[in-house]
Amino acid sequence: MQVARYSRLFIPTLKDPPADATAVSHQLLVRGGFIRQLAAGSYSHLPLAKRTLTKIEAIVAEEMDAIGGQRFHLPALHPADLWKESGRWFDIGDEMFRLKDRRGSDHCLGMTHEEIFAAIARDELRTYRQLPQVWYQIQTKFRDEPRPKSGVLRTREFTMKDAYSFTVDQAGLDAAYEDQRGVYERIFTRCGLQFVMVQAHSGMMGGSGSAEFMVRTEAGEDLVAACPNRDYAANLETATSRIPEEPDEPPTSSSPEKFPTPGVVTIEALGRPPYSVAPRRQLKTLVYMVDDKPIVAVVRGDHSLNEAKLQTATAGVNIRPARSDEIVALMGAQAGSLGAVDFTGATVLVDRALERRANMVTGANEDGFHLRGVDVGRDLLARGATLADLRSVAAGEGCPRCDGTLDVFKALEVGHIFKLGTIYSTPLGATVLTAEGKEVPLVMGSYGIGMERIMAAAVELHHDEQGMIWPFSIAPFQATVLTLDKEPELARAAEEVVDQLARAGVEVLFDDRDERPGVKFKDADLVGIPLRIAVGQRGLAEGKVEWKLRRDQAVELIPLADVGSKAQALLRAELPDWAVAR
Ligand code: ATP
Ligand code: MG
Repeated sequence: MQVARYSRLFIPTLKDPPADATAVSHQLLVRGGFIRQLAAGSYSHLPLAKRTLTKIEAIVAEEMDAIGGQRFHLPALHPADLWKESGRWFDIGDEMFRLKDRRGSDHCLGMTHEEIFAAIARDELRTYRQLPQVWYQIQTKFRDEPRPKSGVLRTREFTMKDAYSFTVDQAGLDAAYEDQRGVYERIFTRCGLQFVMVQAHSGMMGGSGSAEFMVRTEAGEDLVAACPNRDYAANLETATSRIPEEPDEPPTSSSPEKFPTPGVVTIEALGRPPYSVAPRRQLKTLVYMVDDKPIVAVVRGDHSLNEAKLQTATAGVNIRPARSDEIVALMGAQAGSLGAVDFTGATVLVDRALERRANMVTGANEDGFHLRGVDVGRDLLARGATLADLRSVAAGEGCPRCDGTLDVFKALEVGHIFKLGTIYSTPLGATVLTAEGKEVPLVMGSYGIGMERIMAAAVELHHDEQGMIWPFSIAPFQATVLTLDKEPELARAAEEVVDQLARAGVEVLFDDRDERPGVKFKDADLVGIPLRIAVGQRGLAEGKVEWKLRRDQAVELIPLADVGSKAQALLRAELPDWAVAR
């Protein structure tokens, strides 16, 4: 549909955003008539959103096809068996939608498709000669997210482009992963997103390495640490940093000394007189339940524990802070008086930043008492505790690669690429024969992008007080045409403009509604169509119309006769691939 008449379309714009909408993309996509909520974390895409999403999908498919990706469409309803074979049926908790069919067999709704693609590979691929294979789909995923929020940024049903590479060895995987990295960069660039690629935590996917593509925005739920020198960027879930050595006094006694601290249950309280122990000289002891087993984690008093890092360190799946009854049962004291010295009831992990620290203060594992003179090496590490990277890095700390200072900011994950290796092919028995005739497990990679996330991220990045400002590449329409008054000759001139644009190959939204110009202008700005042509009395007297880009303030009067060619030149510049497609 090259030309659409607004009067015939369903664009239910609203003056006010939903009361619970905090993210700008949530507010504007609802107000602009793009989406409507069906239930928590479940949204209907109305026609404008569908047009934008179709364009995003086309860009994604084009880029995937360009590196030899082959498009599939797999079921969303999965028999539980394959998920049991990989083990994830048991590892994944409430995030998986599970159901039984009429015969009572277990099924789930696909939250990702490693198992299903790997099963096809297992059944069909025999030899290295068939490799590499790059398979993908653009398909619905279901995840029972604990906190669906921010409109379509985090939903329980969403559309993902998920791709999987199958290679015979690690070198093949490295090459496939590099291809995907390039594809992702091109996709996000074409969709008008500014992004950073960051080192990431692999989470429930597992595997040896992964990178996330992040858009810097307050609407994001992730934190990224990045060096302004551009040599380092990582999700806080894996980021490391340089921090100054702490000069400690050598221990004065051969063992820690207990001292009374009645009522002192926080790091801050111990930092105040009469104790005055600086938080960086304290040990903070935390108890977690990892897959229902207790783990004690120790970090510096002024540092915070990162749960994803704890998950990595314990190779655990389900992690939560222990409840107070669990803490007392394990440690014999309440949170606030905990310490790991002389504790042997569970695995003790000590953050690396504490490795050489001496003369520290920690809870005595007895309510109302602390220990001083704690030497981390002597009193913890020599007695069975293990070092691990546990702390979250903070803004202002040193870059691990150069002498720069890390910045920490909120970011939205739009894509994630994983080197899975053989963690799925081994349990599923997906093997091939090498050139030497040896049977080896397929080496896999997995690569996901959220379609609705791209749409919402574009709005987070490109909007103003009046509404959305779509990049040309994913705008629901490229141009909109309206009249400044109701005279019939204006309408006739507008039709002429629309006609020129259509002949030039531009997608036009013609606002032919019987509405005041003010209403039309407001809607045009809210909906964010990148080019607006307005036909008014004054201009038309000289054969001219108003040309305005949504992203600029300037309004230019141009000859009506030039609209088509000027729009075509604009689109050629904005969309390098556009001219080729025509
Ligand atoms: P997040 O940390 O945001 O939950 P994830 O690590 O679970 O993401 P992946 O499993 O890697 O995400 O999924 C690939 C892509 O799918 C993500 O980069 C994101 O764009 C999109 N995505 C994931 N979960 C959701 C969701 N609940 N709603 C919308 N899009 C999502
Ligand atoms: Mg998730």
